[in-house]
Amino acid sequence: MRKVLIAGNWKMHGGPTEAESLARAIARGHDVPIGREAVLCPPFVSIPVVGWTIRGTQFQVGAQDCYWEEKGTFTGEISAPMLREAGCAYVIVGHSERRRLFGETDPLVNRKARAALAAGLRPIVCIGETLEERERGETFGVVEAQVRGSLAGIAGASAPELVVAYEPVWAIGTGRNATPEQANEVHAFIRGLLRDLFGRDGADAIRIQYGGSVNAENARALLEQPELDGALVGGASLEAESFLKILGA
Ligand code: PEP
Repeated sequence: MRKVLIAGNWKMHGGPTEAESLARAIARGHDVPIGREAVLCPPFVSIPVVGWTIRGTQFQVGAQDCYWEEKGTFTGEISAPMLREAGCAYVIVGHSERRRLFGETDPLVNRKARAALAAGLRPIVCIGETLEERERGETFGVVEAQVRGSLAGIAGASAPELVVAYEPVWAIGTGRNATPEQANEVHAFIRGLLRDLFGRDGADAIRIQYGGSVNAENARALLEQPELDGALVGGASLEAESFLKILGA
């Protein structure tokens, strides 16, 4: 049984003061429902304060990116072991904003995912097609290239630690989400690719999240789909009430 994983990607919102109050509002008096996992991914500088705030609860902390080297002359970068030491359990890699705005490619995302696994972090590997690609009928080709490129060379033993987030770029921050059926169709396709890469048992252990304008109103219908194992939530994770509703959906 795969545990449903709800992760909040706070993006560049929430310095330590704001992050502490949001984490407090989310974790205070609220349990993570049985069979679910919940992760808060604040900006790097707010990871420690979020970690302290949720201490003793079932909530976990994640980061939004990492570098693949452990340490060295890489000004401005943060390594996976550093994130682990700071209390992270998960790290998002290859978010479409990083691919689009910072030129991240599949080979680079692959190095980050492997570095995360080597450090004992669970990578949430983001993939997804743009609107133009969907309209040209290229969704499955794009998704396949991203899955194969981003997960290349990862050993089958690591499969249970992997999370794939299918995030159609046209649905991120736009208020226009994929229909539950559209999402399920692509998730089923991704599961088939994962079987090819990791075998049936390995693929069945990997969670596939959906991301793209998930909110308190549409979360239930999406999460009811058999191939959806959770949600990566942007905008709606910045308010405790909506994030908790999604977590309970
Ligand atoms: C995201 O950034 O991963 C995301 C899914 O954002 P939003 O929920 O705001 O579309």
